[in-house]
Order: sequence, then structure tokens, then C-alpha cells
Amino acid sequence: MAAWRVAPDAGALDRRSCAHEDADEHLPEPETAPACDDCPAGAPFGSLLHCLTCGHVGCSDSSAGQHAYGHARTSGHPLARSLRSGDTWAWCYEDELFLLPTDEEGPVDEDGHAP
Ligand SMILES: [Zn+2]
Ligand SMILES: [Zn+2]
Ligand SMILES: [Zn+2]
Repeated sequence: MAAWRVAPDAGALDRRSCAHEDADEHLPEPETAPACDDCPAGAPFGSLLHCLTCGHVGCSDSSAGQHAYGHARTSGHPLARSLRSGDTWAWCYEDELFLLPTDEEGPVDEDGHAP
């Protein structure tokens, strides 16, 4: 069973798919208060993204450094999940779509249609 499913997007007419849904979503959280691995120490950053391939932590596209995106570009690692508390989504940089854990209950059935 895939670890991730493509998040439903009511605005999308085409059914997009992600080839990376089997990625392991159970990487341990960074132990200390997470910070961007690439920003200078003490520099402000916005929300953080956690690479599901290697555990790199980078700042999101709303931050000045955009280091999560930079990491995905240079490493080829496709998936990063949000580290913001309460967030469960991950972003696929290769397919440019949101993923949700398959073990999360949602209002959408397996075919991606609202009941
Ligand atoms: Zn993908
Ligand atoms: Zn950064
Ligand atoms: Zn990585």
C-alpha cells in the first residue's frame, strides 16, 4: 500500500499522478527544534520542509533562501513534507503536487471523489 496519495484538488480537471507515492513517510522528526540546514545560524526562516529521502531540512518557497526547493533541485530528491505543526502534507517537486498520508481519514474516497 502506498504511503501517500495525491491530495484531492477540485480545481484540477486532469487526474494528476505521482510516481513517488511509496516513499517512506516515517522518517524520524528532527530531534531539536528544527531549523533550515542551509540558512545561516540565527537567520529568520518561514515554514520548513523535511526531505523524505535523506532527512534534509530546508526552508519553504515563502522563505528568502528557498532551500527546500534548492535541495530538491540539486539532489533530485522528490518529496518533502511540511514540518509545521498540524501539517501532514508533503510536496512532490517532480510532479508538482501535494500528497497526503494514506492513513489519514479524509472526506474523499479511494477514487478521489467526494462521497
Ligand atoms: Zn511525484
Ligand atoms: Zn534556508
Ligand atoms: Zn534529500
